[in-house]
Amino acid sequence: MSWRPLTILILATAGCATWRTVGSYEGWSLHEASPNLIQEDPWRVQVEPAKAAVEAWLGPFQNPVQIHALAGPVHLTEDGQGVVHAAEASQPVAGMHQTEVRGYHLQGTDPSQAGKIFVRDPSLPTLVHELVHARLAEDQNKLPLWFEEGVACLLSDGLMFEEHWVRDGFAAWPWAELHARRPDGLELQDILDLDSMSASSVRQNVLAHLVGWALVFDLWRETRSDDWNTWYAAFDWKHPVQDAQRRLDRVLSGPVPGEWLRARLTSSNGGVRLAALRGAWKLASPEVGAILLGALEMEKDPEVRIALAVNLLASGTQVAADGGGLLHIHECARTALSQSSLPVLSEALAVRALLLALEDAAPGEGAHARGALEGLRRFWDE
Ligand SMILES: [Zn+2]
Repeated sequence: MSWRPLTILILATAGCATWRTVGSYEGWSLHEASPNLIQEDPWRVQVEPAKAAVEAWLGPFQNPVQIHALAGPVHLTEDGQGVVHAAEASQPVAGMHQTEVRGYHLQGTDPSQAGKIFVRDPSLPTLVHELVHARLAEDQNKLPLWFEEGVACLLSDGLMFEEHWVRDGFAAWPWAELHARRPDGLELQDILDLDSMSASSVRQNVLAHLVGWALVFDLWRETRSDDWNTWYAAFDWKHPVQDAQRRLDRVLSGPVPGEWLRARLTSSNGGVRLAALRGAWKLASPEVGAILLGALEMEKDPEVRIALAVNLLASGTQVAADGGGLLHIHECARTALSQSSLPVLSEALAVRALLLALEDAAPGEGAHARGALEGLRRFWDE
């Protein structure tokens, strides 16, 4: 399972390929690097709701957005200001889990460049993230890198449910990564000083996303507003490091993921429950395991039951305090999988393959289950 999608902001000086226009639609166009690289329909289905969600928060785009489909994986360059084509999707980051660049937005000084977005796949969270950058760039806001990435990370944490974008906002990767290895005060200061034109190491760039998410998440919860201007105004810009430390203390405290999951899983909206569950496996602890198991016992919706089971199974051994607890969790998750029927054939087959793969596996060691989990990506991938 991939841990860590990353979408980045880079300078407009990055290499130019010749792009072919696949189609032009209302307010946006789609481009590819070589003929017949992509199919138009899956992109349209994702771009339209992503753009609608971003316009609902930030206002309508003033210029058409140009979306470019990348032909292969890219890595962030060492100075953090460009991308290079790469053979592998995963990119190592000093002192952290590997990351994967799924998209980027060209940051130029010319506002006409504002709407240029490059993405690997038509994935809705990636598109929302990059469209947030593109929309903010139209207003020529000079925002610190952490703040802009934080807004993009917060707004792009969610999923499509019944034709609407449902935002969650609690992003599991940044929480887990920062909780385990929080940057020290000096490194934090460096990250807070970056703007989108600064040279930075790959690590600093990734940390700007993670720290940015944590701080903006805290500002969002504190202000109870959906307006990023209100979040910006609530930050103590005279004492940035102190304010950031105070907010990180609050967001990264141990009980926060459990409190968040518990609150979201009581929602009557299935989309809210599904959005909260994506990435829950990254938060594995006995407390989170107990919350997910308790929710599974109550849950009636087949999709949410699958999401609960898949995230429990993907959590590894840390999801229970002892071997007996782990065995019980795995039995309950397998029962839920075997009883739930999904309408999409490929997903129903993936559930069956997962059950088969788990038959002989010890709890928490599902190496053979990975192939089947790929087919159920929308339930766990955040
Ligand atoms: Zn970004």
